[in-house]
Amino acid sequence: MPMSEKDALSTLQNLKSELEALSEISQEARATVTLDQQSVGRLSRMDALQGQAMAQAAERHRRADIQRIDAALRRLDDDEYGYCVECGEEIAAKRLEVDPAAAFCIKCAR
Ligand SMILES: [Zn+2]
Repeated sequence: MPMSEKDALSTLQNLKSELEALSEISQEARATVTLDQQSVGRLSRMDALQGQAMAQAAERHRRADIQRIDAALRRLDDDEYGYCVECGEEIAAKRLEVDPAAAFCIKCAR
């Protein structure tokens, strides 16, 4: 086991709650852009739409990350964490350090 399961569990859970918090915070930014001048303030509608699109893209990213984390949490549960889902080899500790939700070893990730 490249990383202790306890460490992996708390790291993954922290990452997940961080992502969920960010998601919560950005909810307003993702909401439909209103045409109401007052609520848009000094931002032009274009800026507002662009900001919204960026916030929505960031949210999609976060959702995908949360799914990867959930999958990693399931592997922890199944005692498969830290092993490549493709070939079953141990995933390098360094790799898990960088991405605790990594599902593939370096060879299979390529
Ligand atoms: Zn592999």
